[in-house]
Amino acid sequence: MAKTGNIKISSENMMPIIKKWLYSDKDIFLREIVSNASDAITKFKKLVDLGEAQKGDDPYRITVVADEKAGTLTVEDNGIGMTEEEVEKYITQIAFSGAADFVEKYEKAGGDGIIGHFGLGFYSAYMVSENIEIFTKSYLDNAEAVHWQSDGESTYTIEPCDRATRGTKIVMHLAREEKEFSKKYEVEKLLRKYCSFMPYEIYLNPKGDKDDKPVNKTEPLYLKQPKDCTEEEYKTFYCETFSDFNEPLFWIHLNMDYPFRLKGILYFPKVRKQVELERGQVKLYCNQVYIADNIKEVIPEFLLLLNGVLDCPDIPLNVSRSFLQNDSRVQKIASHITKKVADKLGELYKNDRERYENCWHDLSTFVKFGCIKDDKFYEKVKDIIIFKNLSGEYRPIESYFGEEVTAEESKEGKEPQAVYYVSDGDKQAQYVKMFKDAGLDAILCDTFIDPHFLSYLEYKNPTRTRFLRIDADVAGALKAGGGEDKEIEEIFTSALEGKGVKVRTEELKDSAVPAVVNVSEFMRRMSEMNRFYQMGEEAADVTLVVNTACPSVRQLKDADEEKKKISVMQIYYLALIAYRQLKPEELAEFSANQSMLLEKYLKK
Ligand code: ADP
Repeated sequence: MAKTGNIKISSENMMPIIKKWLYSDKDIFLREIVSNASDAITKFKKLVDLGEAQKGDDPYRITVVADEKAGTLTVEDNGIGMTEEEVEKYITQIAFSGAADFVEKYEKAGGDGIIGHFGLGFYSAYMVSENIEIFTKSYLDNAEAVHWQSDGESTYTIEPCDRATRGTKIVMHLAREEKEFSKKYEVEKLLRKYCSFMPYEIYLNPKGDKDDKPVNKTEPLYLKQPKDCTEEEYKTFYCETFSDFNEPLFWIHLNMDYPFRLKGILYFPKVRKQVELERGQVKLYCNQVYIADNIKEVIPEFLLLLNGVLDCPDIPLNVSRSFLQNDSRVQKIASHITKKVADKLGELYKNDRERYENCWHDLSTFVKFGCIKDDKFYEKVKDIIIFKNLSGEYRPIESYFGEEVTAEESKEGKEPQAVYYVSDGDKQAQYVKMFKDAGLDAILCDTFIDPHFLSYLEYKNPTRTRFLRIDADVAGALKAGGGEDKEIEEIFTSALEGKGVKVRTEELKDSAVPAVVNVSEFMRRMSEMNRFYQMGEEAADVTLVVNTACPSVRQLKDADEEKKKISVMQIYYLALIAYRQLKPEELAEFSANQSMLLEKYLKK
């Protein structure tokens, strides 16, 4: 005879709340139900291992049936099963009070949320069902099978049934507007999302023949020992897990049991666009059950640029996010991940420099971003940060820094070692040539993150280095020394009046160059920052350095006023062109000047 009962928890109030909060995430119900099935098998397996239960010859498995016609979704396992008392206790009491408890926690957490909405359990199936039936038979000898059903609001019935096999079958009668969950295709998508790595085979709508294939991998690669994994396996796992057919550059396999359990693989993808950082996808699992993507409370922010899977059963998941953030265990996990990444990079640098250098262009974006975001990471990798020099060789950035400038020396005007950099080899070609001719070196900094990173390096090493773009000033070694000439300075200053350019005269070693444009590093960085924050126009501090070693510059002294003007313009615009593209009005003036020059030159 069927027994009926009232659900004592005030569940009438729970449903609207749960539905409202979880609406965007309601498909987690399937994860919860399949996880319960998986747990039930694990429990039974333990009893078998302990010799307290007899295993039959049926392999452990979970079967999911999406029945579009009937409008139902069924999940069945051959796990531990439940007796009538257990159904009363675990389902009617625990499952419902568990949900009430969850609602309360969720409410306390405010908009903060609980990661992956873990902990809602069996009750979550009511988000999509108008009625749920359970058919279950305990593993215990002589246990009677039971049938329980409830609309989840207030009453339930429980009665014996004729289920013959051990385990539990949950039949969800889907609500009218949730019928999509009875479509095989939809259910398959969800199983792949949440259950890809669950430890028991999951079959969806099996036909009962040899063609049946599980939708999941019960032993995902990350659970294996790193020494047992091949390069091919890592690549295949990447491709399958992230549907990315580009090979990853490099990966890090995490595998530890103490002081916390952490397993996973982090992949460094190729950087596709050099203009911005693309977000990666780090999937968080708990005992092979998918929780959520990119949980920034657990995974250091810069690692969210990577692709990866992390399985960490020690993270408390049914707590609010703000709690997680302050949880010392979680902080330890995050800093361990950071350390591991730094160690692996160090190993690669030491053991396979060629591969490291080949990957560096892509790798460096992550590394530099990581340093900026996390000082501890910088401390660990600072010796393996490399930059290409003008001869195309990579050298550690540290090797460019100078000796520390003491406070005493600083007072006397000594500055930290200047390191020149090229941000665009084509645009700065003239400067590069001058450097090379003079036997000077500079580093190549042409990724979008470099300007920020150089500032960071200066901030970390204020007494040892400062960075100057190759066109920021005339490097000491390019100067012959002296060469100031008031007369020439005056000729240029008056001809260039109104152009907002400062003029300085100097004797350079290379007499072929009449003048170079220099833009103060500080002002340029300021204006770049303004542009970045869209705070208005560039306000560059431009100096024309006139080379008094150049014969044509010296000849100016004897020229008439008109020739002076035309020549100065010509020298100015040639120097400007080597620095940047001309603006339309500049180009017009330059062309006009050029014609006048030709006219004079060709005149009989
Ligand atoms: P939780 O899984 O977090 O304990 P649930 O609400 O999901 O909470 O489930 C409550 C209890 O019901 C479980 O702890 C378990 O004892 C029992 N249960 C649920 N599903 C099954 C199942 N498929 N087989 C056996 N027992 C189950």
